[in-house]
Amino acid sequence: MHDVVIVGAGPVGLFLACELGLAGCSVLVLEREPDPRSPWKADPLGMRGLSAASVEAFYRRGMLHPLLKASGVDDYPGADEPAPPRGAGHFAGMMLDPAKVDVAALPFRLPSPALEGVMTNLEAVEAVLSERAFTLGVEVRRGVTVSAIAQDDEIVVARAGEHEYAARWLVGCDGGRSAVRGLAGFDFVGTEPQLTGYLVLATIADPEKLRPGFNLTPTGMYLRTPAEGYIGMLDFDGGAFDRSQRPTREHLQAVLRHISGTDVTLSDVHLASSFTDRAMQPTTYRQGRVLLAGDAAHIHSPLGAQGLNLGLGDAMNLGWKLAATVHGYAPDGLLDTYTRERHPIGAWVLDWTRAQAAAMKPDPHAQAIQGVVRDLIGTRDGTTYVFEKVSGSSIRYDLGSEQPLVGRNAPDLRLADGTRLGDLMRDGRGVALDFSTDRRLHGPAMGWESRMQYAAGPARNDLGLGAALVRPDGVVAWAGDRDPDRESFERAAGQWFGSPEISATEF
Ligand SMILES: Cc1cc2nc3c(=O)[nH]c(=O)nc-3n(C[C@H](O)[C@H](O)[C@H](O)COP(=O)(O)OP(=O)(O)OC[C@H]3O[C@@H](n4cnc5c(N)ncnc54)[C@H](O)[C@@H]3O)c2cc1C
Repeated sequence: MHDVVIVGAGPVGLFLACELGLAGCSVLVLEREPDPRSPWKADPLGMRGLSAASVEAFYRRGMLHPLLKASGVDDYPGADEPAPPRGAGHFAGMMLDPAKVDVAALPFRLPSPALEGVMTNLEAVEAVLSERAFTLGVEVRRGVTVSAIAQDDEIVVARAGEHEYAARWLVGCDGGRSAVRGLAGFDFVGTEPQLTGYLVLATIADPEKLRPGFNLTPTGMYLRTPAEGYIGMLDFDGGAFDRSQRPTREHLQAVLRHISGTDVTLSDVHLASSFTDRAMQPTTYRQGRVLLAGDAAHIHSPLGAQGLNLGLGDAMNLGWKLAATVHGYAPDGLLDTYTRERHPIGAWVLDWTRAQAAAMKPDPHAQAIQGVVRDLIGTRDGTTYVFEKVSGSSIRYDLGSEQPLVGRNAPDLRLADGTRLGDLMRDGRGVALDFSTDRRLHGPAMGWESRMQYAAGPARNDLGLGAALVRPDGVVAWAGDRDPDRESFERAAGQWFGSPEISATEF
């Protein structure tokens, strides 16, 4: 029996498998597709934007360079380059000017080897994660479609054909049409679609009839990407298109002509898929021994390029908590903080995509909203606000502290000897940073040594802190002032890492 069975070897399932493998759990991943390669995962259809927060997750596990290499990125900014971002994204197709991001208003944005997002594709992301999973001893079994689940107080069993796979925990990372979600009895609530979206790789007889970039028209939106023949469309048909069938060339051409107001001709369609803006989540991400992560836990339109980033955030948040539960040292309720922390972030992404769909509608109301948004992103404050959202830097969990860093993704704090927080996080343990002159946290921090690393010394930039406790997912769990209080540190360590292994008095 495995500690954890993960259903789905997409990017989220694989990232989670790596987190659990790193923490010493035995993990089996069951994947329906026999072959990891697919034209839907390679450029241009598989192109995905990873936010800075996601890139940082790869960096913290020592996978930044493999990711950049697999993604063909050779001009990524260096670790000490100061901060104006190179790209800032868009809202509903309205592009942000990166020069308008007010970096001074982002005090926690310290220089880091992973300060920028990366344009990659699913094939590259999955290849990097599969290789890491393999080195961590994770088994990925392909050609296995899970079709039934049974659980009791002790175990959960997934069935695929004649085969049964037992584990102590099961995580459904099986995508937007998740079988696990239905089989384990999760609800799924939200809003019905207003539009059908299409992605098309085609030979276009007269491409000059289409303008490059995002085009909001009186009848919808089309996007002509720089990749030859690759276009996207939004048709506000109330989600009427029957998505059980592949869209035909005739249908796609009719939609494109309608939206673009041209007589453009698609002479051949090579690949095409459709999506909607249906936006849904279960009310909890856990039912007994079954959990959900990634698209299985939230569906929404791809507007705003958030789904993968959201799913990787789920995996990072869940991995160490589930591992602590498997190993038996998790404090009471730790696993339930997964839903508590991640569900509101999922709900926010659903709203972010709803807002963009609403602003792109071909009607006077949406056009009025577009005018307002254009005015707002014309200002530094407006651009900075949207940038913080799309880059992931606005995410903050409510951990019950008013200290502004607590609950946030930790900046890449650096000791005077050059050691970076990101480097300390490679082995998946939490990190206790102690900048106090008398190494005040030394004894207490050593009490949790197998779960938390202790690093002490003066900082290059301590952001006014004397100490910080960073969880394995990179979130600041506690922060001390220049004269850090050992007792409050110990309370926070116990809250997240359970009882200490060794009493502090032994040091
Ligand atoms: C056009 C488009 C552009 C996008 N752009 C971005 C972007 O720029 N940035 C971003 O962050 N997000 C983007 N997204 C969203 C992103 O692609 C998804 O959120 C992400 O791929 C979800 O990963 P996942 O691992 O949760 O699910 P998936 O990638 O769907 O993986 C699920 C896996 O589970 C397997 N599976 C399913 N059912 C079973 C079963 N019963 N048994 C066993 N295995 C099963 C599947 O074969 C699959 O391998 C985009 C989406 C689209 C459609």
